[in-house]
This record gives sequence, structure tokens and C-alpha cells, in this order.
Amino acid sequence: MTEKLYDLDSYVREFDAVVTACRSDKNGFGLVLDRTAFFPEGGGQSSDIGEIDGYRVTDVRIKDNEIIHYISSAQELTDDKTAHTEELTEKSFPAGKAVHGKVNWEKRFERMQQHSGEHLLSGYVFSNFGYHNTGFHLSDNGTTVDFDGTFTESDIERIEDAVNRTILRNVPCHIFYPSPEELSQLTYRSKKELEGPVRIVEFYEDVPFTERTDDNEVILYDRCACCAPHVRSTIEIGLFKILSFEHFKGGTRMEIACGGRLLREMRVMQENVTGISRLLSVKPENAAKGVLKLNDSFKALKFNYIRIERELLDITAQHAGSPVLFLESADTANVRMAVNALALRFPDDYCCAFVGNDEKGYNFIVASSKDCNEFLSLMRSELSASGGGSRSMIQGNVKATREAIEAFILNRKVI
Ligand SMILES: [Zn+2]
Repeated sequence: MTEKLYDLDSYVREFDAVVTACRSDKNGFGLVLDRTAFFPEGGGQSSDIGEIDGYRVTDVRIKDNEIIHYISSAQELTDDKTAHTEELTEKSFPAGKAVHGKVNWEKRFERMQQHSGEHLLSGYVFSNFGYHNTGFHLSDNGTTVDFDGTFTESDIERIEDAVNRTILRNVPCHIFYPSPEELSQLTYRSKKELEGPVRIVEFYEDVPFTERTDDNEVILYDRCACCAPHVRSTIEIGLFKILSFEHFKGGTRMEIACGGRLLREMRVMQENVTGISRLLSVKPENAAKGVLKLNDSFKALKFNYIRIERELLDITAQHAGSPVLFLESADTANVRMAVNALALRFPDDYCCAFVGNDEKGYNFIVASSKDCNEFLSLMRSELSASGGGSRSMIQGNVKATREAIEAFILNRKVI
């Protein structure tokens, strides 16, 4: 059993320990210590990373109360240039060897900010909406929280305000293992029935635990069964924001960000909004209006373009010397119109339009008073074309060169 140094003190960054076992398994070379400050993957949160004796810790997992640190000798270390390169074997870490571990603190602290922010969010949502947290995922790719209920835009703003208000109150975090008797007296959030000692993470202040706000809403801080490291007090979360929310499995999935991660997200958003507003010569706060205006102009231009293309294709069809057209690109409705116009001029032929190029292949439309399905089955067997349609008109696509298509038409004398 590994002693969990992170369990009651989330701020242990470095530690000394003794190797109890090491072995390779499907996840890599694993090192078991008598004690650790590395948080293993669990409760929806990815594991810590860091270093042990100059080896990079890439993953940490818990199995039967034993915490396994997967280490690698193949990658460069961040601040220690004496990275090991030899192959890891059981002899590298004999039982009893003293080692020194260092958690990647920047990453760990940022995750503590996200996770504590999530507790305030879930606690507020449960107290004020009655919805349960049904899923939580925290990794480098982002933080998502699922609820079994839905929210309006104004609910989201109200929740953000309440969580940020709690953050500013600098509410302390208490982590403790209550006795079974104490636990039976406590109300706390939990996703599942728990066996054995229950670790409680509580954001709580003695006076006042509840607060009446202007709109008479009751804010309760949070008490939850949880295995992860948390910040000392809410002020360390910094700032909380719901980045997006969407319907998910009958409820809602929110993407949230706090503290340092939120700052990075905001920088990316600002860069994008500033870029868009410069391109459109509008103020950043009018970027969305500018894009809408641009989209309207684009739609009007496209409408005009299709109208002009239709007129040109009609003229082309009226003057074509053959019932076969090749076009680089065109609107499908316009192509259909052109093929119909060809069919009036060449009533005894298969009238075709092939749209595309040799590299990407061609989409085609064929119209005729003859059976177009016969034409299609020949195209299928000779050129591996695919498509469908009726006796009088077919459409499909073919991955062949223009030369091969023209040879097919000429050789088969299908025209
Ligand atoms: Zn938690």
C-alpha cells in the first residue's frame, strides 16, 4: 500500500521515498514507492506527471491501493539535462533504493484550480437547481462537467456570477475523513455509494455558510466525496468561466476553465476576435455583426454568381458541338439545366456533363431519351463509376481522367 502524500496536503511538490517494487506491464515500466505525492488517474482527472531521480514520470495509476509510476528514459527532462538513456530493468530500481520525486507543479496547480472550480459549480448547481453532476473529465485537453438538467443563457450567467462571488470570499477548503458516525450526520454530494473511509472535500466558512443575495437566492458552498487534490482556499481558483454548454444525453455538458488555463483560453479568443475585427475593419465588440454582414454579402454574391453561371451554361449548351460537356466546377442545378438543354438539341444521344478534374475525379449528370441506366452500368463496369437515377436521368461520380472518359464514350459508341 502506497502512502498518499497528496491526500491531506495537496501542496507537497517534492518528496523522498523508497522503492518497494518495479516491473514492466502493458502500460510501460512501473515503479512502486512506499509513499508518493503523485496523484494517480482517478475520478475523471488525468494523473500527475513529473520526475523521479531524473526519469520522466509520464503516467501514474492506482491498482489495489498500490500507486504505480510509469517512467521513461527516452524523453528529455524539463530542467535537468542529465536525462538517463539506458534501458530500464528491475535492476535499475532494486527494492529499498531511496529516490526523490518531483511533481510537475505548474500542471498540478492548474488542475487543482479546475477541479476546485468544478466543485463550486456542481455545489451551486445542486443547491440552486437540484441537478446532479453526472460526469467530469479533466485533462490537458479541457474540463467538461455533465449535469442531468438543462440551463438557459441567463442561468449560465447567474451560475458564473455566483461561483466567482464565492471565489472572492476566499472560502477555505477542508479535506478530511469523517468517522462513520460523523459521516452519517453530513450531507454531501457523491456520484456513487462509497465503501470504507470517505474523503470529504469541503468549501465551507463558519459564518455565514449560507448567504442571502439581492435576488434572495441562497448560496451554499460545497461538500463532496472526492479523491483529488484541491486548492487551499477558493481565492486560488482565480476566475471561473463556462466556455460553452450544450445538450448532452438529455442533460447538459459544460466546458469550463479557471485560473491560468482560463487566461490562456481568453488570450486565444482575444487573438481571434482582434484578428477578425482587423480584417473586417470593425471594433472588436462588433466582430460578430461584421461577420454576419460579410456572410450576407457572400450570400448575395453567390446568388448572382449562380444566376450568371446558369446563363453562361445555357449559352454553352445551345452552341455545343457535342452532347458531352466537361466543366471545372458548377452548381449542380445549373448542370442539370445544361444537360436538359443538350438533350433537346441531341435527342438521340446520351447528353452528359462531367464536372471536376483528373486529380479529384468527376461528378456527372446524364440525360437521354435512351435508357440512362444502361449507360450507368457500362460506366460502372468500365470505369468503376458509382451513381444512380432514373431511366431518363442519372447522376454519379467517377475517378478517371478526362482522356479515359472520352475514350470510353468513343470506344463504346454510347453517344
Ligand atoms: Zn472532485
